[in-house]
Amino acid sequence: MISKIGVLTSGGDAPGMNCAIRAVVRAGLKYGLEVFGVMDGYKGLVEDDIFPMDRHYVSNIVNRGGTILGTARLREFKDQTVRQIAVDNLRKRGIDALVVIGGDGSYMGAKKLTEMGINCVGLPGTIDNDIASTDYTIGYDTCLNTIVDAVDKIRDTTESHQRCAVIEVMGNHCGDLALFSGIAEGAEMIITPDHPIPEEEVFESLRQLHDAKRKRAIVIVSEKIYPDIFAFAERITKATGFEAKAEVLGRIQRGGSPSAFDRILAARMGAHAVDCLLDGKGGICVGMVNNKIVDYDIYEALQLPRDKHVSVLRLIDILK
Ligand code: ATP
Repeated sequence: MISKIGVLTSGGDAPGMNCAIRAVVRAGLKYGLEVFGVMDGYKGLVEDDIFPMDRHYVSNIVNRGGTILGTARLREFKDQTVRQIAVDNLRKRGIDALVVIGGDGSYMGAKKLTEMGINCVGLPGTIDNDIASTDYTIGYDTCLNTIVDAVDKIRDTTESHQRCAVIEVMGNHCGDLALFSGIAEGAEMIITPDHPIPEEEVFESLRQLHDAKRKRAIVIVSEKIYPDIFAFAERITKATGFEAKAEVLGRIQRGGSPSAFDRILAARMGAHAVDCLLDGKGGICVGMVNNKIVDYDIYEALQLPRDKHVSVLRLIDILK
């Protein structure tokens, strides 16, 4: 039976991570466990930056973006000898198990630690929604709303000047943020890694809109598709008649108070993670599928095909 658990956040930060930390701490304490916080992800594990948390440490954080535990990327954690230092630091405090809140890279670290005797449960904390074992990741909904809020503002000035706005959003290699913010905005075009559009086709569609006297065009583009989104906007200006302006929303997308949806998701997942550790499970990750909280083996989860939302694509044309 375990008596001490740790919690850390790793990889890119996401709104709602604090709610997940809170849920793990409160659920752990409720079941009589001692709960430890680890600063700055796997870096804190290796550097022994580990401290006991009480229920007050996580009070008044549900509405705060970022992560109170800090986060980091530690490439060296792929090295077994570096992970052994982390295991030794946990063992000397008697910490038997860990909740890791992060993306797929963090899941790999969690799986490897489990194989070295520390049971770990992963929670999907990333704005990208790029983890196939859950319908939604913690932080995605807040980020989506932040994008929609920003595009609403850009839309005002775009329409006033009868321009084309080309807006680059985050998502890493996953197009969900672009696709669903584009649907929410009724964007004229949405370009994602899952659904790329040849440049000539983009120009032709925008030319047709311009010739039909459309007042504005909104084009939402996933990051990492065009090496230079500003140069892409210049090519649109030359090819279509629209004056195109590029905007990179950038890190504003990572911040802010988590949405109610993300808070509730994080609370449910955090409590489930503690249940799993109490059941002696490790090397697994928590997800929400069809509104049910579930868990998967991490290796299996990382092999699952991601939903490319093909059925949603038709909406772009139907609602244009
Ligand atoms: P995001 O989706 O926001 O980028 P992430 O968790 O995928 O989050 P990564 O930088 O890929 O972010 O991974 C976070 C950390 O997890 C890495 O810095 C490293 O410490 C650890 N990690 C990643 N891959 C492995 C691996 N194969 N083995 C052990 N540890 C790993």
